[in-house]
Amino acid sequence: MVNILTIKGFDDNYFWLIKEKRSGRCIIVDPGDANPVLEMLKSQNITLDAILLTHHHHDHIGGVNELLETAENIKVFSKNKLFENTNQVKDGDVLTFFDGQYSLTVMETPGHTLDHLVFYNKEVAFCGDLLFSAGCGRIFEGTAEQMFASLLRVAMLDSDINIYCAHEYTQNNLSFAHHLEPKNSDLLVYIEQVSKKRQQGLPTIPTTIGLEKKINPFLRCEKKSLINALEYQLNMLLATPIDCFRELRLYKDRF
Ligand SMILES: [Zn+2]
Repeated sequence: MVNILTIKGFDDNYFWLIKEKRSGRCIIVDPGDANPVLEMLKSQNITLDAILLTHHHHDHIGGVNELLETAENIKVFSKNKLFENTNQVKDGDVLTFFDGQYSLTVMETPGHTLDHLVFYNKEVAFCGDLLFSAGCGRIFEGTAEQMFASLLRVAMLDSDINIYCAHEYTQNNLSFAHHLEPKNSDLLVYIEQVSKKRQQGLPTIPTTIGLEKKINPFLRCEKKSLINALEYQLNMLLATPIDCFRELRLYKDRF
């Protein structure tokens, strides 16, 4: 009953537009810039019902005020009160749209920022800057423990759920993943697929939980092969998955 349309913003952002097929109404996730969103609304002849914000960074919210000026009754959902008419949400809240025909559940996922949210249902998860294909967000406000716990919660979702993250960082992330696990055959296949898509200018997003568990080092902190590779690179012992995650994130920051 919905289509998910890709809107590119800035250098590498994605603003995801959830369009109800019959009514011509839609929801936008993380509109960092209003212009490409307004162009899409106009070209598709659709109206905006709601804005979902995964977190407060400017490249995710920068277009909100301008979009709110285009119509009355556009609802904004985020954890904190970022705008005058924000609907503040919390973990477990179920948001319904399009006359109750479509719903998304709120998951609080602190780490990248303290207000970070994921919106998900049985088919999709909008992950903002928590999880990227072959990577994860930087830890700006939370702790490594919070970020790791948030990633593990998302990783518990069904393996075939489509993951819509907010940036096209896949190729850069893959070079780090390949550096760690050069013999991971799933990773080698994925690198080829991504390379072909990028050559054609196509997005590599959405990805899936199932795929990410096979190729994303940040979801593989319990895998012996990944732990051993990182121990070798850093010349240190990593006793637990959280130790592995913390050092992995620091290593990626300086990679
Ligand atoms: Zn961010």
